[in-house]
Amino acid sequence: MNATVEVCIIGAGLSGLALASALRAQGRNVTVLETRDRTGGRVLSHNGHDLGPAWIWPHNRRMLALLPRLGLRCFPQHAAGRLVFEDAAGTIRRDLEFATMGGALRVAGGLASVTDALAAEVGDGLRLGQHVLRLTEDAEGVLVATKSETMRAEHVVLALPPRLAAGLGVAVPDVPTWMAGQAKLVASYPTPFWRDEGLNGDAISHRGPLAEIHDASPSGAETGALFGFILPGATRAPEFRDAAIAQLVRLFGPRAAKPDEVLIKDWSTDPATAVTADRTPPSGHPNYRPLQQTSRLIFAGTEAAPEDGGFLEGALAAAEAALTSLRARLD
Ligand SMILES: Cc1cc2nc3c(=O)[nH]c(=O)nc-3n(C[C@H](O)[C@H](O)[C@H](O)COP(=O)(O)OP(=O)(O)OC[C@H]3O[C@@H](n4cnc5c(N)ncnc54)[C@H](O)[C@@H]3O)c2cc1C
Repeated sequence: MNATVEVCIIGAGLSGLALASALRAQGRNVTVLETRDRTGGRVLSHNGHDLGPAWIWPHNRRMLALLPRLGLRCFPQHAAGRLVFEDAAGTIRRDLEFATMGGALRVAGGLASVTDALAAEVGDGLRLGQHVLRLTEDAEGVLVATKSETMRAEHVVLALPPRLAAGLGVAVPDVPTWMAGQAKLVASYPTPFWRDEGLNGDAISHRGPLAEIHDASPSGAETGALFGFILPGATRAPEFRDAAIAQLVRLFGPRAAKPDEVLIKDWSTDPATAVTADRTPPSGHPNYRPLQQTSRLIFAGTEAAPEDGGFLEGALAAAEAALTSLRARLD
């Protein structure tokens, strides 16, 4: 058995990393175990394009304070211009002066710049490729078992979706994982050409396969990008990619036919985020709330947030609450 750590955090998503960084800054002995070979969890960017979350909002005070602390900046979601609407029969309107995400903010360079910067602060406390299989609590602490080792921790923080924590032998209510049933497609182009025609890049389609589309061009718009939410399950069809590009051509014109790159991420089939039940998304935003803790097991992760649960802001709120809880136990 390896040496005892003060705090073991399971999950290197935004919540686990924010908590680990704060604990390290206080001089605590903390280890983060992450099953993936990357950090960020649901935060995933490729060449600056966000395949997971893309937006923060002006009321997200924790996110807005974190960005300048990490030397990062945000910029407004592009909203100038008209929205494209396609009904189920394929009739298209381009006369709607409306932006569905006006007022939202994006992070320059992609949201993974945030989790990358936090991971750098955690440094050698972070261990990737460590899939936690089981937790066993006893009077002296918690045994944390991975495939290759068992570690003893004084306290364990579960910074992962509750539905995944349930697989570790922890009693936890069935709480849906926010956005886990979703899939995203990003198509990048040499320029944001739709803006030349007075379109803002937003589209709502009842025909699909992309249900909702937005401008995902980088800050400064030196190149262009569109992203769409895909109806769950559609990504697995072999003809999906071509159908999605054909839809972008219908909605935004022939210049959409030849993207420089197409990225697709289906979260519903990723076992480090979703379980089978997540393939049926909840009908509305669940009423997330803090989850019951034991003397040695604490929940972080956005699904256990005291406010803004499900969102990035909730991931930070849950980390903050876990920090307060740990301080009382460790001192
Ligand atoms: C497509 C999509 C779009 C979204 N859009 C937005 C948005 O625009 N704005 C917004 O605010 N929020 C959005 N969200 C939600 C946002 O991504 C989450 O709120 C946030 O990233 C959750 O962070 P977390 O740290 O709580 O959980 P996660 O990011 O899920 O982190 C959990 C970590 O635990 C790890 N893990 C799982 N099981 C184990 C195990 N057994 N052992 C070790 N490690 C394990 C995982 O690999 C992961 O790294 C979106 C999510 C998705 C999927």
